[in-house]
Amino acid sequence: MNMDVTVPLHGKVALITGGTSGIGLETARVLARNGADIAINGFGSADEIEEIRTSIGATTGRRVEHFAHDLSDYGQASRLVADALAKCEAVDILVNCAGVQHVCDIERFSDDAWNRLIAVNLSAAFATIRSAWPGMKTRGWGRIINVASTLAMRAENQKSAYVASKHGILGLTREIALEGAPLGITCNAICPSWVLTPLVRQQVEAKAKELGLSFEETARTAFLRDLPTRRFVETAEVAATMLFLCSNAAKSVTGAAIPVDGASTVR
Ligand code: NAD
Repeated sequence: MNMDVTVPLHGKVALITGGTSGIGLETARVLARNGADIAINGFGSADEIEEIRTSIGATTGRRVEHFAHDLSDYGQASRLVADALAKCEAVDILVNCAGVQHVCDIERFSDDAWNRLIAVNLSAAFATIRSAWPGMKTRGWGRIINVASTLAMRAENQKSAYVASKHGILGLTREIALEGAPLGITCNAICPSWVLTPLVRQQVEAKAKELGLSFEETARTAFLRDLPTRRFVETAEVAATMLFLCSNAAKSVTGAAIPVDGASTVR
């Protein structure tokens, strides 16, 4: 869907983790359409990645680089910005969007699952922010957007690591906003409710199996009942919010947790 918001981003480079799927991929498309060169990090088959690179490049004329650093490995997360800088010269916009989910009650939640989720959803963002910082500071301009969740503000059954990681990234966002304020660097968290990406599709499918219901019936009764709008949030809506945060008009919007959630957190 075209959200009809335009922001001149020519001359800027955006690094988007989780940029090969779902919310991150749509953000890459939207930022490229508005003039930014793009570096995406994430997984996918060689064919899928090539299709993403050529389709964004062909429709926008922007440069699109791809990295496949495994962000569950702190060393690889720490190297990502340096590797992006080596190819793209700058990282003006950093979108920490990569995320994973693990649904399990606390008694059976394994150390491995906890450590992996915290590494991807939280520690990797710390590593990328710290590495992107010196360049943003030197240029006196930076935009950092962390994709949190409505679960940065409340909890949900069987999601201990995810909820902890999203509360954590909101705390990190506020801290970075304070440190960035005198430097022209903003840092915000976006808090979507349900968006029908592969991450959520898996959860709906698992629940449908458990309940013995169709995908649609499960989505309606077990997921969309959380949303007063009774529909999934679209990736384009989240990307449009990110685009606004990248604009100069948003230079005083920093340290915010912005819900894109159809009023689900206010009831
Ligand atoms: P998605 O599954 O479509 O995309 C996840 C991305 O993260 C992919 O590009 C994947 O390759 C990348 N990724 C996963 N593990 C990785 C790893 N170890 N190393 C490097 N990259 C890795 O998911 P999505 O729904 O687009 O989620 C994006 C972000 O939005 C996540 O942080 C998620 O928590 C958040 N979010 C999603 C929803 C939703 O309903 N979909 C709601 C709130 C918040």
